[in-house]
Amino acid sequence: MIIVLLGPPGAGKGTQGERLAARLDVPKIATGDVLRAAVRDGTPLGLEAKAAMDRGDLVPDAVIMGIMKEALAAPSAANGVVLDGVVRTTPQAEGLRDALTDLGRAVDAVLLFDIDEDELVRRLSGRTTCDACQRPFFGRQPGETCESDGKAGVLIRRKDDEPDAVRKRLQVYRDQTAPVIDWYASNGGKLVHIDALGALDDVESRMLNALGLPASGQ
Ligand code: AMP
Repeated sequence: MIIVLLGPPGAGKGTQGERLAARLDVPKIATGDVLRAAVRDGTPLGLEAKAAMDRGDLVPDAVIMGIMKEALAAPSAANGVVLDGVVRTTPQAEGLRDALTDLGRAVDAVLLFDIDEDELVRRLSGRTTCDACQRPFFGRQPGETCESDGKAGVLIRRKDDEPDAVRKRLQVYRDQTAPVIDWYASNGGKLVHIDALGALDDVESRMLNALGLPASGQ
């Protein structure tokens, strides 16, 4: 299955995408993770993307298309993929459709994570992220150690989780990503709304239910 996760920053796409990818036994691709790793490693991609990311702006569509195509062509994606935050503009949605058409494939479902802005600001302002595995934590401080990935990563506060950048990212979402919702609604109609508020297990159940998959463990 090829699943696109849409929704504002902080809606839980990463966490739920991880669960869904494990459930489907396919990789999760998150352009944000790829870009942050490139910034950390100082690669040309990272150098190109860093300033826009720190401001909370989007990086150019052409950069995203390159990452997207490479990920889709990887043997690990042969059985499907969960795309987290990969489609953020209408040209990217069109680019994904065209890239998949070239591979004889298509998006199976688009899950839109619905959540209100007050909750997003609350979540993002309390978030730290592992600099190695990129897992998010809430209620833990920068400098603490992440034990979850075996690499002993350090928790950092993402620059784009600072209040000014969060406001900018939400504005960018409204201006550039929200139109993607209408695009999917009128190009195939595979868009499903997921109530993203509540306990992680509850949101996961709604997501699996929306895809017609049995709950985890069944
Ligand atoms: P995320 O981790 O998904 O919140 O992404 C962090 C940042 O990476 C975003 O604020 C953008 O600057 C950049 N980014 C990630 N994915 C995309 C995308 N599909 N299009 C443009 N910029 C992106």
